[in-house]
Amino acid sequence: MPKAQQTVLEIDLQALKHNFEYLKSKLQSNTKFLAVVKAFAYGSDAHKIAQFLQELNADYFAVAYTNEGVELREAGITKPILVLHPQTVNFKVLIEHCLEPSIYSAKILNEFIDVASKENQTNYPIHIKFNTGLNRLGFSQNETDGIVSKLKNTKVVKTKSMFSHLAASEDLNEKDFTISQILTFKEIAKSFEKGIGYKPWLHMCNTSGILNYPEAHFDMVRSGIGLYGFGNSEKENKNFKPIGTLKTIISQIHTVKKGESVGYNRAFKSDTVLKTATLPIGHADGIGRQYGKGKGFVTINGQKAPIVGNVCMDMIMVDVSNIDCNEGDEVIVFGKNTTAENLAITAETISYELITAVSQRVKRIFTQ
Ligand SMILES: *Cc1c(COP(=O)(O)O)cnc(C)c1O
Repeated sequence: MPKAQQTVLEIDLQALKHNFEYLKSKLQSNTKFLAVVKAFAYGSDAHKIAQFLQELNADYFAVAYTNEGVELREAGITKPILVLHPQTVNFKVLIEHCLEPSIYSAKILNEFIDVASKENQTNYPIHIKFNTGLNRLGFSQNETDGIVSKLKNTKVVKTKSMFSHLAASEDLNEKDFTISQILTFKEIAKSFEKGIGYKPWLHMCNTSGILNYPEAHFDMVRSGIGLYGFGNSEKENKNFKPIGTLKTIISQIHTVKKGESVGYNRAFKSDTVLKTATLPIGHADGIGRQYGKGKGFVTINGQKAPIVGNVCMDMIMVDVSNIDCNEGDEVIVFGKNTTAENLAITAETISYELITAVSQRVKRIFTQ
């Protein structure tokens, strides 16, 4: 890769392929793979990532919102796309783009059937979501009979899958809870299948579920963070390759005298002589203010440079007192050595938040 000349997010498609193949190696050969590409494929680039995964034969895609699915269709994604949180106002658009809704409440089910029947649909594929303990979205177990009778009385929609979501699949201290979620899901599936008279696909596992609960892979798994290079544990992280490297450059170097301050609100006051570098990346690019005041850091010529003072909208200043560096030198914010997870921890957050925060003004560059 040529040296960065501005802030860029480099995306390594070979790393994506590696992660996809690693996750697939954990599955039985007939288990389908749904790639979660919501939120710009976790802050990378939904089009390119979905196209690449479509070529690698991912079976299914999922996005959070309808407009994300519409964009994938417009980018030429032809595989089925599950919309996890479709929002009733978008149902007509969703149908026009052959997107498949997650249906999680009686109200949503009725409204979807109404819209789909006005659009003259029959057997439109839907995915019934059950709440087994996350308490976020989903029908509860005791609603099963009601949904089944509603579904039996319509030809407008057909249940392609039934699914649920684990609350703590990455946390082995919560293993008992996770196992109870899996058991509840199996129970619901049994009565659902009996009632409806056929077997929709079942799916429950996200990335950590794939890794920790092979007994719960069912017909399909849904992976997001693993594709992008994180396994949510020290042990598993070694098996993945982060696909994104966030790079920038040094715009200017300053010598800060004892008693001077750096940045807005004079949040940093120096009690020694300091050398700082100003970098063209700020909270509007995804480095939140919580990384300021010495918590977060970047890497310059292989050495750690902590953020000095407050993060600005478009810039940060970092301490390079002990680093041999010049204007124009490349800076790594996160990547394969210091990973997004390593940096996220400094601000008490998780890789998911840091990578999805990289804003759309940061140029994406793809490497094979
Ligand atoms: C985001 C999401 C996933 C993917 O989870 P990862 O931990 O990123 O693998 C799977 N299923 C649902 C319902 C989600 O919302």
